Amino acid sequence: VWPLLKRPAEWAACRAGAPLARRFRRQRLLVLAYHNIVPDGERARGDPSLHLAQREFAHQLDLLARTHDVVSIADVLLARSTGRPRAVITFDDAYRGAVTAGVAELTRRNLPATIFVAPAFVDGASFWWDVLASAGGGGLAPELRAHALHELAGRDAAVRGWAERLGRPAQSVPQHQTVASEAELAQAVASGRITLGSHTWSHANLARLGSAELELELTRPLQWLKSRFTAVVPWLSYPYGIRSPEVEQATARAGYEGGFLISGGWLPGPVSTARFALPRVNVPAGISLAGFELRISGLITR
Ligand SMILES: [Zn+2]
Repeated sequence: VWPLLKRPAEWAACRAGAPLARRFRRQRLLVLAYHNIVPDGERARGDPSLHLAQREFAHQLDLLARTHDVVSIADVLLARSTGRPRAVITFDDAYRGAVTAGVAELTRRNLPATIFVAPAFVDGASFWWDVLASAGGGGLAPELRAHALHELAGRDAAVRGWAERLGRPAQSVPQHQTVASEAELAQAVASGRITLGSHTWSHANLARLGSAELELELTRPLQWLKSRFTAVVPWLSYPYGIRSPEVEQATARAGYEGGFLISGGWLPGPVSTARFALPRVNVPAGISLAGFELRISGLITR
């Protein structure tokens, strides 16, 4: 229902406010957070907010490039003004669809992006939130999700075992919703403007781990990435966007430049403090192009 009700209002807000809002933010930077891109001709399953159609992604990129300077992740630490707002494109989870169809759209437009990889899943693994999403496409019930994240620390095997005991069998997901292979990551990097960051080793809730496990989750993926690829950037995206003061300190000790949340809006200004709790603008699948424009103009800051 909501697209019918909301879209005319969104277009009106865009026409009225977006140019002014962008002008107001011309010295600011936003980091966009994407997950999967569903290749043309294929259908999404699993958590519906994470899987964005390739055609919609392409329209978003065209819109973004018209009004923003799309820059690489290193720009997050640079205070510079180009006269237009700057945007960094990121993907969490290294879904195969993002690494192939998503990167193809970026390459076509010569745009840079960073993909955050959890190496334990590389080469065809799926994620619990996709295989446990209800067949109707509604995603996992909020109370089940909360139990999985907090009581089970977001650990993939623990969540799957618990779901099985509840009688909720895992459903299979299409290929594009599994994690890319090393070869696919290498091919994405070879396109020239794609860099790889860390999404921890196994995508657990870092705030629930003891210090030894926390350190391993942070150091292992960087070693794994650096021993295979040259285009590695020492940036972290926190699984589920969850961190604590201890997690932030451990992230700094592990040698990262900074850590990203999954939401929170635009960067506040020059990044000096709070480098380990950097906000992003999440781009859920299912928003209209006007809804996207409201987000990249700063009129919606969720
Ligand atoms: Zn993730």
